[in-house]
This record gives sequence, C-alpha cells and structure tokens, in this order.
Amino acid sequence: MQTVLISGAGIAGPTIAYWLKAAGYAPTLVERAPALRRGGYVIDFWGVGYDIAERMGLLPAIDDVGYHAQEMRIVDDGGRRIAGFGTRVFDELTGGRYITLARSDLSRLLYGTISDSTEIIFDDEIVALEERADEVRVQLRRGGERGFDLVIGADGLHSTVRRLAFGPQQAFERHLGYVVAAFEARGYDVRDENTYLMYGQPGRMMGRFSLHGDRTLFLFVFADAAAGWPGTPADQKAKLRDLYGRARWEWPAIRNELDRADELYFDRVSQIRMGSWSRGRIALIGDAAFCVSLLAGQGSALAMISAYVLAGELARAEGRHEEAFSAYQTRLRGYIGAKQRGAERFATAFAPRTSWGLWFRNQIVRAFSLPGAARLAIGRDIADKLDLPRYRWADRDKSGV
Ligand SMILES: Cc1cc2nc3c(=O)[nH]c(=O)nc-3n(C[C@H](O)[C@H](O)[C@H](O)COP(=O)(O)OP(=O)(O)OC[C@H]3O[C@@H](n4cnc5c(N)ncnc54)[C@H](O)[C@@H]3O)c2cc1C
Repeated sequence: MQTVLISGAGIAGPTIAYWLKAAGYAPTLVERAPALRRGGYVIDFWGVGYDIAERMGLLPAIDDVGYHAQEMRIVDDGGRRIAGFGTRVFDELTGGRYITLARSDLSRLLYGTISDSTEIIFDDEIVALEERADEVRVQLRRGGERGFDLVIGADGLHSTVRRLAFGPQQAFERHLGYVVAAFEARGYDVRDENTYLMYGQPGRMMGRFSLHGDRTLFLFVFADAAAGWPGTPADQKAKLRDLYGRARWEWPAIRNELDRADELYFDRVSQIRMGSWSRGRIALIGDAAFCVSLLAGQGSALAMISAYVLAGELARAEGRHEEAFSAYQTRLRGYIGAKQRGAERFATAFAPRTSWGLWFRNQIVRAFSLPGAARLAIGRDIADKLDLPRYRWADRDKSGV
C-alpha cells in the first residue's frame, strides 16, 4: 500500500485523506496547529464542491450547521439599509444546491470523516524534504525523519511544502492589495438571521453574520498594499483598531468583541499562480497550489475539488503518480484560471477605495434588486463549468460514487 504524507488539516487536507483512503492508499496528515483551527468567516458552498460533499455523505450534517441566507444588506453609519438584494437568486441559479456555512464547521465535518481511521499528527510540520528515486524523505520538526511514497502540500496560502519543493512564496504570490480578517464572538447583542450585513467606508468594509448558538461572525476587508502582513495577533488587533477607529455603525461594540477574541484570522488577499502543481513525488492542492482568494467566494469548494480530482487520478493511474499528477493539472487548470480571473474582476467591489467607488458599488447592488438583474450579473460567475470525473474507488464496489 502506498503511503502519502499530507501537510495541512484545513479543507483540502482532510478531503484528500478521505479520498486517498477510498483509493487504497495509506495517508498520514500533519497539521502545524496544536488542534483543528477554528475561526474564519462564512463560506458559500455550491457547485462541484457541494457535489463532492454529497459523495462524502456530508449533506445532512452540512444542512444542520448551515444557513439559507435571504439577504445581502449594505448599511449606513446609523445601521439603515442603503442597498442590498435578496439572495434567493443563488438558490434559484443552483436548483437549491446552495448553502452558507462557517468555514470552521466545514473543516470540522471533513475532519470527522477521517479522524478515526487516519494517522493524524498535530503540532508538527515538515521542515525538510528530500526526494529520492523510490520515496520522499521527510524531516518533521518533532517527529524526526520518515519516508513516504508521496507528499501532498495542503498547507494553504503560505505553504511550506511549496517553499521547500518549488521555491519562495514571492515567486508565486500575487497580492491583490487587500487584507482580510475575521473572528467569532458569543452573545453579541444585535442579531439579523440569515442576512449578510456590510458597512463600508472608502478602502475598508466590515461585515456581520449571525450564527446558530448565539454566535456571531465579523469580517473586515481593507485596502493595504503592504505585503508584510499577517504579523503577530497583537499587531493585527492594533491595526484593526487603528484603521476602523473612526468607523460608525456598530464599531464600538464590535471593537469590544475584537479585544476579547481569542482567535483572529488575518491574512493578505492574494492569489497563487504556478506553472506546475507538482514536481516528482510532491504535489500541491487547494490554496497551496492556486489560492483564488476570498474574492472568488469559492476557495473551500475549489480546495475540495482539487483534493478529489488528485485522489481520483491516483486511483485511475493505479499508483503511477507522474501520470496522475499531470492528469490532475490538465483537468483543472482552465477551470481554476477562470475562477482566478473572476476574483480579480470582483476585487474592488468588496472595499472600494474611494467615496465615488463606494457610491457606484452601492448603485450596482441596488440595481440587483431589480427582477432578473442579479441573475444576469451573478449567473456567469456562479456557473460551475466542470464535469466531475467518475472515478473507481478501491473501497467501493460501485463506480462513479
Ligand atoms: C483558521 C482559518 C480561517 C480562515 N478564514 C477564512 C475567511 O474568513 N475567509 C476566507 O476567504 N478564507 C479563509 N481561510 C482560508 C480558506 O480556508 C481557504 O482559502 C480555503 O478553504 C482553502 O483551503 P485549504 O485547505 O487549501 O487551506 P486552509 O484552509 O488555509 O488550510 C491550511 C491548513 O494548513 C495548516 N498549515 C499551514 N502551514 C502548515 C505547515 N507548515 N505544516 C502543517 N500544517 C500547516 C494550517 O494551519 C491550516 O489548517 C481561512 C483559513 C484558516 C486556516
């Protein structure tokens, strides 16, 4: 049985571990954090990623923890609605196969599919990789040296596997000029169920989404050309307090929650563009390979798709990894490229940099409430033009599942 070391237990990592087991491989997952990471904002989940979750038997659980959002609402200093649109259009465009859920809930559910059957090592990471003719020798920070047939980097935007095997981060990262931050709070006073709230000033926005169990998520996106972030958690909170210091709406209450938050997600809004997603016995998936950024609104689904396709191609090639890695890239490159271009187009809509841009964005959002307008505007970006291949999994007797 071939062994595979997967670096990163976010979204792509647990997904590929699940499908590699189905293909008859022995995966091991190593995660740098001491436990599964929480935090992050909500993600919208549809299309091919949704289909894969269905094939993993996760739809009932996703439905339990998820949300059917009704409205996107932009508010002014006093919290009054100035623009917005009903989000039922997403349901219509996807035949009801559309759901919103917290990233941390998706990660937890994916992890639950493998936690009893896979070797998972927390609080450790790869510090050196050496590829030999018949295996990859891996040095783990705490776990010493081990050998694996293959190594998969699923370790996100700042992938260590990419750095060790392909080259420095700067060679592949394209910073889109924004920074994103998100955190979760309990017991926040104001709630608007199934509604995305957005408040903007030139170059910065804040968002709020009410979760089940009296939890609330807050999102910040601001223009910042410096490539130095993320920085330390203390720097990050200081930056947000400083930047939003003169914001109105609910900022004083949100600032109090920020001060108390024990986990803050904070990162550059960037894309990763690489000529090749594999080298020898080492391959990358998810954000590590092709981060599309939050502006594509689909990073988690794409991470799952890449995990599924890579595992499926390994199953199909019966262990001939070079053939599988090449087929994986050929199948997904055009599809991912289109998502990256779509995200770039959308970049300025999130946090327009000028008052005029903000006004213009609000006019467009207002127009979305006209019958059919949202359908027209969103339709192109939401359509998932990828036929999910039908692979044969070793642990199932039926194909195409
Ligand atoms: C805590 C968290 C919150 C997030 N919140 C948002 C959000 O609000 N909005 C948004 O657009 N995107 C967010 N993201 C990014 C989003 O999850 C990804 O774009 C998408 O889901 C792709 O998933 P991925 O599995 O490729 O990468 P990720 O979900 O980023 O997972 C990568 C995993 O690898 C681990 N890791 C990193 N380096 C190493 C290493 N050297 N060795 C071992 N493990 C390592 C990380 O701890 C993480 O668990 C968040 C990511 C994280 C980790």
